[in-house]
Amino acid sequence: MADYDDLQYQGISSDNSKRSTRILSGVKKFCKANLLVILLLTSLKLGIIIGFAVKFGSNRDFSKKDVEYISFPGTLFLNALKMVIVPLITTSLISGMASLDKNAYGKLGGKAVLYYMTTTFIAVILGIIVVTSIQPGRGADKDAIQREGSSQQVNTADAFLDLLRNMVPPNIVAACFESYKTRQVPDEIEPGMVTELMSNITGATVTMVMTTEDGITSLVNESVMTTKMPMMRYKSEGGFEDKTNVLGLVVFSCFFGAIIGRMGRQGEPLKIFFDTFMEAIMRLVSLIIWTSPVGIFFLIMGKILEMDDWQKTFQQIGLYSATVMTGLAIHAFIVLPLILFIFARKNPVRYLFGVAPALMTAFATASSSATLPITLQCLEENLNIDRRVTRFVLPIGATVNMDGTALYEAVAAIFIAQVNGLNMDAKDIVTISITATLASIGAAGVPQAGLVTMVIVLNAVGLPIDDITLIIVIDWFLDRCRTTINVWGDSIGAGIVYERSKDELQRLPDPFEDNDKFSIGYQTPNINNTHDDTTL
Ligand code: ASP
Repeated sequence: MADYDDLQYQGISSDNSKRSTRILSGVKKFCKANLLVILLLTSLKLGIIIGFAVKFGSNRDFSKKDVEYISFPGTLFLNALKMVIVPLITTSLISGMASLDKNAYGKLGGKAVLYYMTTTFIAVILGIIVVTSIQPGRGADKDAIQREGSSQQVNTADAFLDLLRNMVPPNIVAACFESYKTRQVPDEIEPGMVTELMSNITGATVTMVMTTEDGITSLVNESVMTTKMPMMRYKSEGGFEDKTNVLGLVVFSCFFGAIIGRMGRQGEPLKIFFDTFMEAIMRLVSLIIWTSPVGIFFLIMGKILEMDDWQKTFQQIGLYSATVMTGLAIHAFIVLPLILFIFARKNPVRYLFGVAPALMTAFATASSSATLPITLQCLEENLNIDRRVTRFVLPIGATVNMDGTALYEAVAAIFIAQVNGLNMDAKDIVTISITATLASIGAAGVPQAGLVTMVIVLNAVGLPIDDITLIIVIDWFLDRCRTTINVWGDSIGAGIVYERSKDELQRLPDPFEDNDKFSIGYQTPNINNTHDDTTL
């Protein structure tokens, strides 16, 4: 009997040890496969915890210089991402367009545009529904909300013309570092002219910034009824500013790539050049991506140290922030996954895991353009989306498809109307929907670009532009949230276009087929078998 018990015990314990070995190897495999995601999550958490611990533990205010020193490794990471944006966008679009035929890029492009327009519009409508249901601006004391910075005068027509102008840059080399912008500058300032109305124009009194005899401006309180002072006139003045014209580069690269693709044998050397260039850049990206846990840790920690009185900010416009975040959450966790499941039959959770590094980078950098290298890497490497789709669809998506920004612009505009006690009628809501969609298309994939194009929406419905200063304080945080949703929307778009274009893609020769994968999984293009198989 004892022997039998012994044997039984041995059997059970060997079963247990087998099970635990299996679990251990499963955990190991999971950790290995998701190492980057785990590292990124850890660095994000550590950045937040250590940031708060240092901020409250040290009990001191950190100057801009302190923050600059502390977040220095993060700045280097951000610079490394920015460094590859221009070559990445241009070469990926040229190589992507050149590898598709006329019908294919028409169909792929059509599907992508349809997806962008539909999801952006859904986001705007969702924003409007959320903000009109929660009503964060009703009863808010406008004067109690702290203001930050100043707003800029913008003319809506000029803003749209700038968008078109930037699509056709006069100098493609200069487009790498400058874009066109029309500003409203004071035309003539005469003593006694009102330069700015600073409070609710529907109220009994207004605070005005006035010019005096000696050209100095002063604050004056006046009754709305009695004031007859002339408003200062502005004139449009256009010029180039230091900002990469991504839209211009995208348009140029699409046409250039399409033409190379249609040149047949004659275009082959250029095609090979851009394919190889792109692959080299992607190898560089795969090196940069492994520095992201360190970069993200310092970027987040620096931001937390920089934050001033966040408690007061949340008290004042906490409900507004909660409204934006509710809208973004519904769009990210319900609308987009549902679209992915219905149109691509893909598992949204697995998809989320695949693009997690890109989403975390988007949160840390607040820039869809800077995140683009990592988004490309995640989709190609982790989710096996065809490179002909990612390289064509993602750079365009990162530039024009911004669901989070569109949703935010609609919420912010209606919030400002609510704070001013103004009712938006159906015409205003339609105007907000259209301008918020266009403003999100026009926003560059850089931090707080949405705040700038927000002026277009406010202008279109006649809301006080100056009230943007009410929401600037919290914009650094909401910007990170909406950028994450922008990148999530772009990634899902690429997945859907890929699933819906498999037939067309199958009929085309794949320049990336049958090639060696280097260590992290990128394939070198098939260049007459002259590719090398060096591993990084
Ligand atoms: N920062 C956002 C992005 O890069 C744009 C915005 O400000 O909404 O996608």
